[in-house]
Amino acid sequence: MKAIAYILSAILIFFGVLFIWGAFSPEGKTGWIPVGIISVAIGFAIIWFTSRRKPAIGGEPGTNVTLNVDLPGNVNLDTLKCKSCGGSLTPENVKMVAGAPVVTCPYCNTTYQLTEEPKW
Ligand SMILES: [Zn+2]
Repeated sequence: MKAIAYILSAILIFFGVLFIWGAFSPEGKTGWIPVGIISVAIGFAIIWFTSRRKPAIGGEPGTNVTLNVDLPGNVNLDTLKCKSCGGSLTPENVKMVAGAPVVTCPYCNTTYQLTEEPKW
């Protein structure tokens, strides 16, 4: 479906350019210029609509995945700090890898598994 739209728009742009080009040739008529411009405009409009439709359907799947990460109960994200540099981390820096929370520090790029520290 999408490929057909692109081919159709390519044909429209191609013939539109030919019309504009032809209008400037000795045998050409000036009346071909608006026809060519309209044809090219329709071609670009089809490309614009076709390329625009995709993100509307897909949405942003990445956002939901990050928010739904379940962390072990004892881990307090408000006071979560990087082991290497001590930089404060956000839930976005924690990803579930093979069922274990793994921290990727945005400051020093260190990646390590998040372990629960006992509070007693
Ligand atoms: Zn760090």
